[in-house]
Amino acid sequence: MVARETLAITAGRNDTGSALAPAVWASSTFQLASLAEGRLQAMRPRTTRFYGRHGNPSVRAFEDAVATLEGAEAALAFASGMGALCAVVLGLCRQGSHIVAQRQCYGGTTQLLAGVCPRFGIDVTFVDVTVPGAFAAAVRPGETMLVLAETPANPRLDLVDLDEIGALVGPIKVVDSTLATPMGQQPLEHGIDLVVHSATKAMAGHNDAVLGVVAGERNLIEWLWGFAVLQGATASPYDATNALRGLRTLGVRFRQQSASAVAVGERLERHPAVAEVRHPGLASHPRADLARRQLRLPGGLLSFDLVGGLAAGEAFMGAVQLCLAATSFGGPESLVTHPASTTHAGLTPEEMAESGISPGTIRLSCGLEDTEDIVADVLGALDRMTSDDGSSPAARPAD
Ligand SMILES: *Cc1c(COP(=O)(O)O)cnc(C)c1O
Repeated sequence: MVARETLAITAGRNDTGSALAPAVWASSTFQLASLAEGRLQAMRPRTTRFYGRHGNPSVRAFEDAVATLEGAEAALAFASGMGALCAVVLGLCRQGSHIVAQRQCYGGTTQLLAGVCPRFGIDVTFVDVTVPGAFAAAVRPGETMLVLAETPANPRLDLVDLDEIGALVGPIKVVDSTLATPMGQQPLEHGIDLVVHSATKAMAGHNDAVLGVVAGERNLIEWLWGFAVLQGATASPYDATNALRGLRTLGVRFRQQSASAVAVGERLERHPAVAEVRHPGLASHPRADLARRQLRLPGGLLSFDLVGGLAAGEAFMGAVQLCLAATSFGGPESLVTHPASTTHAGLTPEEMAESGISPGTIRLSCGLEDTEDIVADVLGALDRMTSDDGSSPAARPAD
């Protein structure tokens, strides 16, 4: 079997002729030779030669690459990760449908499920992933349409056993695999029906695209396409081209970021200002065994809780120098995020607590800087904020 790192180089080249770099097909529409040709293109699912909302050759190249990397029959790109999740939920469910979803996941997903779904008569049961068998216990035979898991989960890096979800009979099983990328795991190999990614993150990998993608069986993807054409969360050919370029280097980037996250995590665990560190590559992870079994690489995202709550969180965010305070992850720059005030700010206090996010929680995305420089910045920030010299951390000169 060819390694994923190699597939990332060879995949998605069906439409590029002899060019090594993909072409950007900017055209929103295509000339039709006859009425018969027009009718054919208008009725053909997923055509890339009719009208941009139906399909685009640049977007297709990215979709083909993702399908190859996930071992899927087909993939469909969207204007964002949320566009993809929205299509999966609203395109597959109807009034009266039941969804089982995990409590600990990306804030936007929680808001979609808890805020939007009830307005359409879709009933959502949230389960705690730290309770074994929670998904199976919540499934209602004949009624549950979707089971939605996210592993590793954003931002607390909780893990879900993919085999456990894959073994559920009846519902369509969906996994948001954004944090793992195809370099970390292949959910479809575990019996999952649809794998979803926010390609905005490590897949595109350079903070220059907003993009989502879903991969799975051709029939299911074509069904989703029928909804997506009307939903209109269409992926831009520019973003898809940036993301395809990003995929070419995902292997080395993900390996490097995984190694940096483990190095930073091990050092943070020994620091007195840190109450808890969460990363699937650390022996302290509550599901460390599962991490070893399920993840080829643990990824570059970690989270930790600072002793001292909100004040400590705010001080740390202001004290980092190399790491930048920004929302997203998987890019070249190391980023720090304060989930309680940004990515998960839309959650109710109860939802926030159930998600395991406290005012002292920090999420760190290790970038591609030298590992020891990232470690030095994070430890330096902790030392600056705990030092008692009274100077404002932000006022110190950068060295
Ligand atoms: C960022 C993210 C999303 C949403 O993706 P967008 O591209 O920002 O719409 C969904 N799931 C996870 C796990 C994410 O990290």
